Amino acid sequence: MNVPQRYDELKTRLAEIHDLSKVTSLLSWDQAVTMPPGGAPARAEQMATVGRLAHELFTSPEIGRMLDDLAAYEQSLPYESDGASLIRATRYDYDRATKVPTELRGEMTRVASLARNAWAAARANSDFAAFKPFLQQTIDLKKRYVDCYAPTGDPYDVLLDEFERGMKSAEVRRIFSELKQAIVPLIAAVAERGEAVDDGCLHGDFPIDRQRDVCLAILRRFGYTDGEWRFDPTAHPFASNTSLGDIRLTTRYYADNLAPSLFGSMHECGHGLYEHGISPSLERTPLCRGTSLGVHESQSRMWENLVGRGRAAWRFFLPELKKAFPQLGQVDLETFYRAINKVQPGLIRVEADELTYGLHVVLRFELEQEMLSGTLALDDLPEAWNARMKSYLGVDVPDAARGVLQDVHWSLGYVGYFPTYVIGSIVSAQIWEKAVAAMPDLERQFEQGEFLPLREWLRENLHRHGRKFTPKETLQKVTGSDAVQVGPYVKYLTAKFTEIYGLS
Ligand code: ZN
Repeated sequence: MNVPQRYDELKTRLAEIHDLSKVTSLLSWDQAVTMPPGGAPARAEQMATVGRLAHELFTSPEIGRMLDDLAAYEQSLPYESDGASLIRATRYDYDRATKVPTELRGEMTRVASLARNAWAAARANSDFAAFKPFLQQTIDLKKRYVDCYAPTGDPYDVLLDEFERGMKSAEVRRIFSELKQAIVPLIAAVAERGEAVDDGCLHGDFPIDRQRDVCLAILRRFGYTDGEWRFDPTAHPFASNTSLGDIRLTTRYYADNLAPSLFGSMHECGHGLYEHGISPSLERTPLCRGTSLGVHESQSRMWENLVGRGRAAWRFFLPELKKAFPQLGQVDLETFYRAINKVQPGLIRVEADELTYGLHVVLRFELEQEMLSGTLALDDLPEAWNARMKSYLGVDVPDAARGVLQDVHWSLGYVGYFPTYVIGSIVSAQIWEKAVAAMPDLERQFEQGEFLPLREWLRENLHRHGRKFTPKETLQKVTGSDAVQVGPYVKYLTAKFTEIYGLS
């Protein structure tokens, strides 16, 4: 059998597996957006069936044989070619997928489903003790999972690698400790001047149909088109897609608060633009998605914060917003800009502002490592959580529901996931510096409502590669360095909030 034919066979098999994964995305989107609740039990079975079929197809020995047969062919291709990248990424995925015994995977799925329900009940009752046995089982399974891989010196590396390939715990510790050193004092200084910023203009009566119109008008400026995108309301906003021609965004509305829908839809649009910008040559392959959670989050945070919470964009959008909401007629640009950037140290990660968000994640990262290594007993977890919230953010945690039980992640077995949120914010500032250097009049374009030049630059330098390269290789291509660097992010935060709160 000649090699290109073998390659076509692999591509065909991977395309089928990719189709199944997109079917799962569609089932999941439908469940979150349109399905009546009565469909939930059957939908869980449907998604499990499709997921199992995809996993069986992918881990079959035949895929391993194809990869072996294609080793020489891969070597003959340029590293950057679609072909070599596809074989390389598939080999990485295959090695990972086949290292973990089916029995352990099944057990992880079973415990996650039980723990998810236990967590929901425990959170409702603010009862950590009720969740503790499930968390213990989850941590024990994580240790067994780690043991499936070659030792790296730090068990947490294996968990991190699942979400942010190539990132090491030691690197995250260094990054996060630099971040903490810089922003803990900044937050304390801002908190002392808490009354300096009034966000009253964002609260009031904002009919939801008009909020939707405003959000859509903004999204269209960012690159949304009716022929290839959708925009729907949901309870927990997310972005998904079934192909490059079908990008789906969701958002959440509050009739008395304008901010969540505005910035939530910009955030999801950043995810959507990344996926939409992937090269069509990668469609129906495992390379047709963002390279990692962290790099994905760099795109959502960039559109939400660096663009969406900037002055320049609102010089253009605020007059539009006032047409939809005449009560904002007297609000000037400065008042509005300050309102959307108000800092308020609080208890809940998903409600945190741009400045304090990072510390919610640093705290979780530290606790996860301590739980995994055994230096922190689960009995002491709530207290450790509360003590760190006090020391990092100056807030007192009144109960477990608003403390250690607030996030769903651990119940689902997602340990090592949280750091990607902040890595994304940090990387967004690194990429932003490069974009501004390449396009010095970027802000002036925003003032004119022109956002497509930024999108095109991102597409050319980042989006089109999809998952052809590792996160670090991708970062190297966009920024010229493969290291996550805190400097640009700290500089951005310090300049922005020092000015808004008059700290200098
Ligand atoms: Zn996101």
